[in-house]
Amino acid sequence: MTSRRFYLMVSLFTILWINSLAQKTENLFLITLDGLRWEELFGGADPQLITNPEYVKDTADLVSKFWDEDPLQRRQRLMPFFWNEVAEKGQIHGNRILGSKVDCSNIFWFSYPGYAEILCGKTNAQAIHSNAMVWNPDTTFLERLQSEPDYKDRIAAFCSWDVFPYIINEKRSNIPVNAAFEKVQDNPLSPREAFLNELLEEIPSPWPTVRLDAFTQHYALEYIEKHQPKVVYLAYGETDDFAHDGRYDHYLNSAHQTDEWISRIWNYIQQHQQYKDKTSLLITTDHGRGSFVDGAWMSHGKTYTGSNAIWYAVMGPDTEALGEVDSEEQSWQRQVAASCLRLLGLDTGSFADMAPPFKNLTNK
Ligand SMILES: [Zn+2]
Repeated sequence: MTSRRFYLMVSLFTILWINSLAQKTENLFLITLDGLRWEELFGGADPQLITNPEYVKDTADLVSKFWDEDPLQRRQRLMPFFWNEVAEKGQIHGNRILGSKVDCSNIFWFSYPGYAEILCGKTNAQAIHSNAMVWNPDTTFLERLQSEPDYKDRIAAFCSWDVFPYIINEKRSNIPVNAAFEKVQDNPLSPREAFLNELLEEIPSPWPTVRLDAFTQHYALEYIEKHQPKVVYLAYGETDDFAHDGRYDHYLNSAHQTDEWISRIWNYIQQHQQYKDKTSLLITTDHGRGSFVDGAWMSHGKTYTGSNAIWYAVMGPDTEALGEVDSEEQSWQRQVAASCLRLLGLDTGSFADMAPPFKNLTNK
């Protein structure tokens, strides 16, 4: 190799990695809560739904847990980790009342197109237009990381819905996706994993295609403890399914429990050397839902006004603490993929088909 060529290669390498030198983030946790409305995230329990006996079995119980006249208090009761920790140390986008808008770019406003948009950084209406188990022809940011030596085989996904192995294209990407009713296979299994595998068989799920999120949470925590992955994708599903069932009580209880689980993950991160002060969290959702009128909150999709409205939150050592964003802005779901790469300090400029990262994502 001529010295000129060598010089050229060195400078290219430097361009690609220059950002990573400036950033502290070395690990990334992407977390999604299926179909959790911005209305509850920013306003807490919906006054029109919390005492409606059509959707709530024990209204007094739900009111005692989650009600407050003040919506700011109310949201804090529902999701204390978001409103105590993330709001103080990170950013929360999507409060439309304050002018902060985050939307799906895809035209469908249901799960597969939403997750594909989140993970691939683009829409593809021709290939992805249903929730069918179709191998995703597009490349997720996880798969792109899989070809980086620093991240290869240090990526894992834990998902409640059974379509995720297809969305992430586990077959092609070689990213391990533990989803739905698939038991964890590892050698050796930890005692906790073996027990979770037993329970997965013994506890009936309310739904044919989605497992209860407790499995996703605890399988993930065990894996993290054992293998210390650098990139984790956690996809919780209950909020969407309980909403479809018309159970507003379960929907709120699940949102609250998931908030607590995320706080446990954050506490784990802050106590372990591999992760402490070098891990970023990005939390979002695949779609919104309809309003409280005529039970539209139970559903989503093109015919349900408002189900394109989503939100995202981000927190980590490189993220400026803007808190709840209260200025006019418009962000898109397709920006999540490049944002995840950007948080890790990777230059996304070479991925022409991927939408750019969110603005104000890092202070570098
Ligand atoms: Zn749904």
